Amino acid sequence: MSDVIVIGGGVIGTSIAYHLARDGANVTLLDQAFDAATKPAATWASAGGLRSQGRHAEDQPITKLAAARWKTLSEELDADLEASFGGHLHIAEIESEVPVIEQRFASDTAAGLPIERVEGNRLRAIAPALTENAIVGAYTAGDGQAHPGRTARAFARAAARLGTKTIFGQAATVKMDGGKASGVVLADGTILSSDQLILATGAWSIDLLSKLGIALPLRWRGLQMLLSDMAEKMLAPTVTAVGRNLSLKQTPSGEFMIGGRWIAAPAPTGIGSNCVDAHVARQWSGAAAVLPALRSRKLAQAWSGVEAQSIDSLPFIGRTRIGGLYLAAGFSNHGFQISPQIGACVASDILTGQEPLLAPFAPHRHDGIDPAKVATFVAEPIAC
Ligand SMILES: Cc1cc2nc3c(=O)[nH]c(=O)nc-3n(C[C@H](O)[C@H](O)[C@H](O)COP(=O)(O)OP(=O)(O)OC[C@H]3O[C@@H](n4cnc5c(N)ncnc54)[C@H](O)[C@@H]3O)c2cc1C
Repeated sequence: MSDVIVIGGGVIGTSIAYHLARDGANVTLLDQAFDAATKPAATWASAGGLRSQGRHAEDQPITKLAAARWKTLSEELDADLEASFGGHLHIAEIESEVPVIEQRFASDTAAGLPIERVEGNRLRAIAPALTENAIVGAYTAGDGQAHPGRTARAFARAAARLGTKTIFGQAATVKMDGGKASGVVLADGTILSSDQLILATGAWSIDLLSKLGIALPLRWRGLQMLLSDMAEKMLAPTVTAVGRNLSLKQTPSGEFMIGGRWIAAPAPTGIGSNCVDAHVARQWSGAAAVLPALRSRKLAQAWSGVEAQSIDSLPFIGRTRIGGLYLAAGFSNHGFQISPQIGACVASDILTGQEPLLAPFAPHRHDGIDPAKVATFVAEPIAC
């Protein structure tokens, strides 16, 4: 019998398993796929941006701690996470967008984040290849990028070195006894017992929870990503723009990776998604408007992965109404940066019974919410 069973081998589940094992727990980590972070999980698809600016106030304490963790995480996990720290730059391209930069600068400064307001020569020095239309930016020098799949697999391997039992390739369902979660049933009928179960099952959580009679204001969406062919190094920071659905970075090997909440079409059945050609074209042209060098590059790959999104864009982390069932899902397109610290906080919450930094994310914080509001959120059109 394990002290804790973690269901889900994305970056959240693997980070939780690693931190629990590091803190002395006897852990079993499960995933339905044959490895951690596989298609179409959010971690597999993720852009891997480590952005600490522009976060929700509730996220900021964990974001700050996570930003510090990322600096030494490769060493800690003894793995190459392809982490680099060229900063993050959020730009305004027209005068009417400038107040958004001023607002972000003011609120992040007030929260104690080392953020700089940049323009003119300073902005050009940070990102010389960007469009001259970039008139002002908010810059966080310590931000960067890492490889999400490598990170999840590194957490899983580090957890295994600490004694975690990993079982991949079998979907798990929650086993209930006397109104409490008592373990899991694997696809081959194996029963594993534990009185602490953590659901870190991303987009799949909605269905798993609904089978247990728990309805939270969650939905899932496919989000698409593009990758260019390889280019000479010209872009150090990761870049977002006030007026565009855009996240742009150059990977350590030279490709440009383009994201920015572009919605993919849901697969005809089950949980999965496919890129939408019209969105691919607009996603690429928006990025090329910000980085003109992209006009002479080719699209090398396009993919999409599924992410659970909550009604307030904050994750659901904590004990559910069902005894023994803990939830960590709904990371709403920004779970990768905070993943190391989420693992540490959940381990502390499970093992000590409390973790104040997780208080804003309580799973039942929306109980009593108007069902019509939830229905509108869930049914929101799949368009950009
Ligand atoms: C396209 C895209 C770009 C993104 N870019 C960024 C970014 O730049 N920066 C950032 O901070 N965040 C980003 N995010 C968000 C971030 O990647 C996610 O928040 C994070 O990866 C969520 O991880 P997870 O472990 O919760 O979910 P997932 O990675 O989806 O993992 C869930 C796992 O649970 C497993 N599972 C489900 N059901 C079962 C079951 N019944 N039994 C066993 N296993 C099961 C699945 O197989 C899966 O492996 C992005 C997300 C997407 C989709």
